[in-house]
Amino acid sequence: MNKIIVVGSGMAGFGAAHRLKNNGIRPVIYERSSYYGGHTASFRDSSGFLFDLGPHISFTKDPRIQELLARFVDNKYDALQVKLDNYWRGLRLTHPVQLHLNGLPKDLIVEILMDFVKVHSEPTPPIANYEDWLIASYGRKFAELFPMQYTRKYHLTTANNMSTEWLGPRMYRPSLEEMLRRAELQAQEHHDAWLRAKAESDNIRKRAQADIANAHKYALETFAGQLLPVRDSLEAALTADNATLDALRRGVELTLKQLDGAFDKFAIKEVNPVGEKFDPHKHQAMTTVESDKAPNTVLHVLQKGYLLNDRVLRPALVTVAKAKER
Ligand SMILES: Cc1cc2nc3c(=O)[nH]c(=O)nc-3n(C[C@H](O)[C@H](O)[C@H](O)COP(=O)(O)OP(=O)(O)OC[C@H]3O[C@@H](n4cnc5c(N)ncnc54)[C@H](O)[C@@H]3O)c2cc1C
Repeated sequence: MNKIIVVGSGMAGFGAAHRLKNNGIRPVIYERSSYYGGHTASFRDSSGFLFDLGPHISFTKDPRIQELLARFVDNKYDALQVKLDNYWRGLRLTHPVQLHLNGLPKDLIVEILMDFVKVHSEPTPPIANYEDWLIASYGRKFAELFPMQYTRKYHLTTANNMSTEWLGPRMYRPSLEEMLRRAELQAQEHHDAWLRAKAESDNIRKRAQADIANAHKYALETFAGQLLPVRDSLEAALTADNATLDALRRGVELTLKQLDGAFDKFAIKEVNPVGEKFDPHKHQAMTTVESDKAPNTVLHVLQKGYLLNDRVLRPALVTVAKAKER
């Protein structure tokens, strides 16, 4: 019987142990932490919340591994088609950036593409470390701006300090043709989006113009509707036979009430400022008259004014007091 020890209970350790078990070997896993799972460990706190050390997202496209992981979680998982962005100096760039240069400053795109063409038109230099691989794959400009900086942040070391055997399919390496085709496709998509946006804004403008025209046309509709009963009353008064002066007067008073009701509904207010201080915004002085009243007091209203929604529809025509000459 083979005695095998697996060091570490992370994905790699458990993966190795699982494979060994399937081959009839029961390994012993040694783990230095007090919990198992390595970076995939989860912890439940006293209130029942489950905290994951890292997100449990699998990016694998390998159906065997997909099936294996699904089985481990009793097929309770969500499949997501995510659209990833890279946040870089205030820009949001679609992932992987090497295929979506379009969000970058124009001069930088040209520099990156020229670099890319240069490294791909020269014989591939010997690759001693990850930095060499990055420069040979993407050109120096892109390598230094993106993956080499990310490497310092994520792996806490520089790319020239890292080997390349871990890379596998992790870093996408587009060909020049793919980059150019993608750029062409993006230009086409942007052009289409621009055409759609233009058509939409044209439609909105046309709709707004029609709305404004209709608003002008029918603005008076409701107000005019309120005036119709007033007209009916006036007509009725004229057709009344043998009406006494009193009856006519009462009819006119009722009709005036109807009109006042319509004015109220549409916020038309009377301006009748006798005794108030002259207000040039609402009153129009026809003349000044010497008076015992305080100067600038409205003495008479020759014609009432009106406000529509507090805006002057017609100023009140008034006479205003001035001090008596001695
Ligand atoms: C924040 C974060 C988020 C991540 N998110 C994802 C993700 O969403 N999807 C994804 O696919 N990958 C993700 N990864 C990467 C993924 O977690 C790792 O690639 C994977 O867990 C590595 O597994 P591993 O077994 O090699 O290492 P680890 O998970 O690190 O396990 C190593 C284990 O070995 C133990 N150990 C180390 N030295 C010894 C020793 N001398 N003796 C005994 N035991 C030892 C450690 O304690 C640990 O338990 C993430 C990584 C991080 C850091």
